[in-house]
Amino acid sequence: MTRYDVIVVGAGVAGSLVAHRLGRLGRRVLVLEAGTAGTAGMTGTADTADTASAASPADATGAAGPGHEGQPASDPPSAGFPFRPHPAAPWPDVSDLAGTEGIPGYRASGHLRQDGPLPYASGYVRANGGTGNVWTGLAPRMLPEDFDTETFGYGRRWPLTYDDLEPHYRAAEEELGVAADADEQREHVGLPFPDDYAFPMRALPAARLDRVLSARLDGRRVKDPVARREVELRVVGTPHARNGVPDPRYDAGRGYVPRGRDGRPDPDSRCAGSASCIPHCPSYAKYTPLKTQGRWSATVTLRDRSVVSRVLVDAGGRATGVEYRSYDGRASVAHADVVVLAAHAVENARLLLLSGLADRSGQVGRNLMDHPVLLTWGLLPEDAGPYRGPGSVSGFEGFRAGPARRLRAPFRVEFGTWGWIWAKGPVDTDVHHFLTERGLIGAELRRAVGDRIRRQFTLQFEMEQSADPANRVTLHPHERDALGLPRPLVTYDLDEHVREGMVAARAVSDQIFELLGAEDHTDYAPVAAWPGRFEHGGRTYGYRGAGHAAGTHIMGDSPATSVVDGRQRCWDHPGLYAVGCGSMPSVATSNPTLTMAALALRSAEHIEADLASRDRPVSLDPPPPPSVTSETSPTSRGASA
Ligand SMILES: Cc1cc2nc3c(=O)[nH]c(=O)nc-3n(C[C@H](O)[C@H](O)[C@H](O)COP(=O)(O)OP(=O)(O)OC[C@H]3O[C@@H](n4cnc5c(N)ncnc54)[C@H](O)[C@@H]3O)c2cc1C
Ligand code: SF4
Repeated sequence: MTRYDVIVVGAGVAGSLVAHRLGRLGRRVLVLEAGTAGTAGMTGTADTADTASAASPADATGAAGPGHEGQPASDPPSAGFPFRPHPAAPWPDVSDLAGTEGIPGYRASGHLRQDGPLPYASGYVRANGGTGNVWTGLAPRMLPEDFDTETFGYGRRWPLTYDDLEPHYRAAEEELGVAADADEQREHVGLPFPDDYAFPMRALPAARLDRVLSARLDGRRVKDPVARREVELRVVGTPHARNGVPDPRYDAGRGYVPRGRDGRPDPDSRCAGSASCIPHCPSYAKYTPLKTQGRWSATVTLRDRSVVSRVLVDAGGRATGVEYRSYDGRASVAHADVVVLAAHAVENARLLLLSGLADRSGQVGRNLMDHPVLLTWGLLPEDAGPYRGPGSVSGFEGFRAGPARRLRAPFRVEFGTWGWIWAKGPVDTDVHHFLTERGLIGAELRRAVGDRIRRQFTLQFEMEQSADPANRVTLHPHERDALGLPRPLVTYDLDEHVREGMVAARAVSDQIFELLGAEDHTDYAPVAAWPGRFEHGGRTYGYRGAGHAAGTHIMGDSPATSVVDGRQRCWDHPGLYAVGCGSMPSVATSNPTLTMAALALRSAEHIEADLASRDRPVSLDPPPPPSVTSETSPTSRGASA
């Protein structure tokens, strides 16, 4: 049986980056991935169309791809995403949730079972590449003050500072290929970029909506009734992990070449504005982990359709390997010096709980966070130019920082450039409205639909939610998936801090709509469409989840109160790391993946040091072929036995 230097569980953003960094150093890495690795044969947009209704080209044609076991995925595609969940590796979809009459009633019928009181309204994907296949690709940094919200009287302090993470942020911006303007980020976001810093690519061009809002709102002031202060509005571009125009100043003038479909340099790869980033970018401009996988060294082996069910430790508590199952339930074991859990915040916690490990602090699964998103939507008096470009290009950054945090959750405001899709559903919802409720047909219908759609816009207020041990993932006492593994059970609520943040956000939205002369169509009915719904101060609030699960194996400076240390090493088990947003003590107001990537790259350095300190030489032998290999392949010199 081959023994690996490192086993990585999960080939999403975090796992793919860790495997890449260690593979580049010559480490023999086995990546076990629960989902299907179906994109290896993708050659372009036509394949994308095929895979939009199948888990993989192999599934689409009925043939097994290289190294795949060839089991057809049997579930229908999940509602929001083009990949099919297999019953052996299910995942939650937001359409699993539905509101019921009577607040706060809701129904949760999918992979994530829930016992309230409010719904956790986010999903994730278990396919090769993970949730990073379908993410939006917004990649802002956290603010220095986000690392210690205790100074504002809430949340938990990180065991590291912004400065500790800064070099890894730079590395993550290179790996993910980030397009942004450092001057703008310094001046209007307050990030301490040195004068000579340039992102790999220049900021994406502003969307039409951004230009309209900038012309009408820049410099105008709105009142925050909760913090009792005024905020000056300023439209600021958001950093994007999608290809734009390279900045020749990058890397001390060495420049940057955008990466294409398979992660190799492709100077022509550029966002073409096709507005299909969720679920899939047909131009391969948006970063996905498959780009990192395309650059893996041959010492990295991916084994897909391999659902890890348990982490193995020796008598001293040191991690020695994992047990995993194929889709037919067959169990196998793989061994390594280091095990890295990178299976997503919820599944990492589930795995630790299934293994009965790392829980001296009692914090495994606790502190589940997200960015609950308050949506408001309306019609501009003029053309908003929706459904072109990424789902959001710019936003307001003025509500993220400062003493207002003491009184309410801080938030970022994203401008939603895809009309009302997140609030109300696809555009045919409008056609349906005019046809069935207003009885319009023919030219009248065309005019009404055209007039409405071109003026649609959405404001997305993403709240910081702080770590609360009561918000948690546990193992369901009797609900099981097809492999017999207990499903995750989520207990979730929004605290007063978040609710007050939403009060401020709604008041700010009201003022913005007034300044714009926009018609406000915000309405959290029908109830079924808004499972995340509550009343506060006589007003109804509806929220969506952002897909930003965090906190479930929280990082800290003591084994008594946290699951992992600042290196994402489980305190209780040498050789066991849990990487991903699950380690984050606070989720701040920035979309979390860039920070998570920076943490993963930092951990990769520590894992290498860990292996080196154990005197494990890197392999000098020819590496195994870079596809799925058999557990029985011969052990070679240099690989530990
Ligand atoms: C619709 C949507 C939009 C988003 N947009 C943004 C955005 O704009 N910006 C941002 O910062 N973040 C965004 N996010 C969040 C972002 O996608 C996640 O933070 C990120 O993908 C998490 O990476 P990960 O590697 O930890 O987990 P994942 O990407 O979920 O990868 C985990 C991998 O582990 C595998 N796995 C799970 N269980 C097992 C097991 N038992 N055995 C083996 N393998 C397993 C999974 O199949 C998967 O491949 C978005 C999320 C969603 C849902
Ligand atoms: S807007 Fe189109 S080209 Fe640009 S990242 Fe999104 S899907 Fe890709």
